[in-house]
Amino acid sequence: MTQMYDNKEISENTKESMTRPKILVVEDNLLNMELVFDILKSLGFVVHGAINGEEAIKMVENEHYDLILMDIELPGKDGISAIRIIKSKPGYNDVPTIALTAFAMKGDREKFLAAGFDDYIAKPIDVPGFMKQMQKYKKS
Ligand SMILES: [Mg+2]
Repeated sequence: MTQMYDNKEISENTKESMTRPKILVVEDNLLNMELVFDILKSLGFVVHGAINGEEAIKMVENEHYDLILMDIELPGKDGISAIRIIKSKPGYNDVPTIALTAFAMKGDREKFLAAGFDDYIAKPIDVPGFMKQMQKYKKS
């Protein structure tokens, strides 16, 4: 009986994690990463992190993500180069991608959209605004 109960628990956990959108956060600033993780988890997302573009590219080759949040200023490959490569991977052409940037100025939105991003979030992150923005990526 214990065995059956355990299996049921496992299958329910699996089912739940399958219906929760999975987000990849690419951010080299660990404080920002922690903040974004806490917010996204509180909204019910499954969250994975990468600290640079190269790591993110490897991760998308092994797993499917429903949304990608990408810092622009990263050591090595920048976020714009990394997202171009990720978008060219099988299954990633239509995955929404959002730029995380401290350089949100007039004209930047167009620059990020032209680079293949669907939207951007300015840093420092406005927590209520960010939460509201992320709500629309939740599956019902
Ligand atoms: Mg950075």
